[in-house]
Amino acid sequence: MSAPLRFISTRGGTAPLSFRDAVLTGLAPDGGLLLPEAIPDVRGALAAWRGLPYGELACEILRRYADIEPETLRGLVARSLASFRHPETVPVVPLEGTWVAELFHGPTLSFKDIALQFLGRLFALILAERGTELNIVGATSGDTGSAAIHGVRGRDRMRIFMMHPRGRISAVQERQMTTVTDANVFNLAVEGSFDDCQRILKATFGDAGFKQRFALGAVNSINWARLQAQIVYYFYAGLRVMDATGAAAVQFCVPTGNFGDIFAGYLAARMGLPVARLILATNANDILARFFNTGVYRRGPVHATLSPSMDIQVASNFERYLYYRAGEDPDRVAAWMQEFAETGTLALDGADGGHPDALFAAGAAGEKETLETIRETHAVHGYLPDPHTAVGLSVARRFRSDAAPTVCLATAHPAKFGEAIRRATGRDLAHHPVIEALLGLPTRADRMDPSVEALEGYIEEHARPVRDANRTQGGGHGEP
Ligand SMILES: *Cc1c(COP(=O)(O)O)cnc(C)c1O
Repeated sequence: MSAPLRFISTRGGTAPLSFRDAVLTGLAPDGGLLLPEAIPDVRGALAAWRGLPYGELACEILRRYADIEPETLRGLVARSLASFRHPETVPVVPLEGTWVAELFHGPTLSFKDIALQFLGRLFALILAERGTELNIVGATSGDTGSAAIHGVRGRDRMRIFMMHPRGRISAVQERQMTTVTDANVFNLAVEGSFDDCQRILKATFGDAGFKQRFALGAVNSINWARLQAQIVYYFYAGLRVMDATGAAAVQFCVPTGNFGDIFAGYLAARMGLPVARLILATNANDILARFFNTGVYRRGPVHATLSPSMDIQVASNFERYLYYRAGEDPDRVAAWMQEFAETGTLALDGADGGHPDALFAAGAAGEKETLETIRETHAVHGYLPDPHTAVGLSVARRFRSDAAPTVCLATAHPAKFGEAIRRATGRDLAHHPVIEALLGLPTRADRMDPSVEALEGYIEEHARPVRDANRTQGGGHGEP
């Protein structure tokens, strides 16, 4: 076998890292994001991958990036997928000339489980090998917090401290977190807004001494291991739909917030999956849709919508795409990021002339279209999409292609967003036993003042300093 793949920073200021260091590091020490030094070309393997069950395909893809012994990797993947309630893990269902890849059959009913069930077990493996510990700290206004908590609950060598703005997240999302009462899970109900939580998170990760002493770790979508796990379902769904239709390529429509999910699709395309187009779908927070249509990335105000996990203006993973757009030139990426930090605007320049990327199409769907898509998809096709998935279905209609069937990624189960379903259909249609089971359970959360001192004091009280501190941990990119 060739030498294990190493991981480099988009800003070029970090010595290449091993796979394990990349997983524990999160954000690169130079402030950039980590990427594999080369993207594996798997075109020669595609024919043999057709028809593989999800778990086997996952092992084939993950081993291209992760330098983990095959039997160990197989065990990690099998245990991660065992928490999914559907035998196929990601069923791909036909819907009115398109296909829906259901990514929401994990324990918290959003696609984030696919990566976080894997990441929690991967952390456990690396920490056990190294005989060290990790204190994960995060902030959430929605799906990330519950998926992260369920990924690490009950595991040795790690604790998770998850902040949410008290009383400002949906009742279902709050219960999905606070009903997890394992001893290593600390839910912090912050007396403030989500912005307060993010500010506290950033400042705590910026406190180098504290970060080192407690080996702080991040689980947000900047962690490379999350992307790697998400590449798998692009291959799985793409190969299934090509088999079913005889088409030579597919296009994917992806409801997008932090650009993590769709970036995994971009990697799948670069690895050699025949992807005719990636259709990027946003809600009213359309900075990314505007970028792919105009070449200009301009920050705007954040709007609260029915699809809260996409209520993001500055997408943490976008820098990874810019790295490839810059011809893998980290200096250009650093200059673009600096321009954006200073002016709130980034315009592609020079060599590529700012031409739109032909691999991408993009559009936004507002609240009316989202509700109408939920209503109509249910009324006409008997299929109930959650509001994030509905944004995708709505935008996908504008980009039908005769040559390449469309796979729409369904990112959450509708029962997570019952209020939006009621508004769209006038009925209480969205149920799931997982959500119903939360009702009787005891909950645990500690209230916290909105300050860095309060968070650091809480961690000091509930975690031991970690002697053999891990590498510097990245952080500061909060997400809903
Ligand atoms: C997180 C999330 C998204 C957005 O995913 P990104 O990787 O941030 O683009 C979309 N839908 C749901 C349900 C989510 O939880």
